[in-house]
Amino acid sequence: MNIGIDIDGTITAAPEFFAVLTRAFRQAGHKVYIVTYRQPLAVQSTRDELARWGIEYDDMHLCGNAEDMGQWKAKIAGLLDLDVMFDDMPAALCRMGPSVTRFWLCDGGVHDLERIARGGEGVAAGGVVSGQASLTPRSRLARAWNSLWGRGRK
Ligand SMILES: [Mg+2]
Repeated sequence: MNIGIDIDGTITAAPEFFAVLTRAFRQAGHKVYIVTYRQPLAVQSTRDELARWGIEYDDMHLCGNAEDMGQWKAKIAGLLDLDVMFDDMPAALCRMGPSVTRFWLCDGGVHDLERIARGGEGVAAGGVVSGQASLTPRSRLARAWNSLWGRGRK
C-alpha cells in the first residue's frame, strides 16, 4: 500500500503512535509518504523533527505556497496513488477519490467534538465539520456492531 500522512495536527497529535505505525508499515513493505503543508525552506527542520519523533518514511512532499491546500493534497494523493491518507483536514480528505481510505484525525484540539456530537458544527483546520454527517446515532452503532459480530449490543 501507499500511505500518506500529514504532520501538523496529525503526527504532532500522536508522534509515538505514528512512529510505531510508520515503522510497522515500512517493515511490512508498504510505502509511507509525508504529505503536509510546510514551506519548502523548512525541509531540513521538518526532516529533523520527524527523525526526533522516530517517524520512518520513503519520501516527503511539502505544499509550500499552494492557494488551496486541500486541492493540492488531493492532487498529490492521486500522483502518489495513495491507498490510505491520515490527515486532520476534512477539506483535503473530502477531495480525495474513493480509492483512498481516509483516516480523519479529529483530536488535534481544533475541533469541538462535543458540539459536533450534538449535531452542531465544529470549527476544523480546513473547514467546518457538521455533526449531521459525522454523528453516529446509537442505533447505527448497534446495527454496525450486529453486522460485525452477529449479536446485539445494548
Ligand atoms: Mg494538518
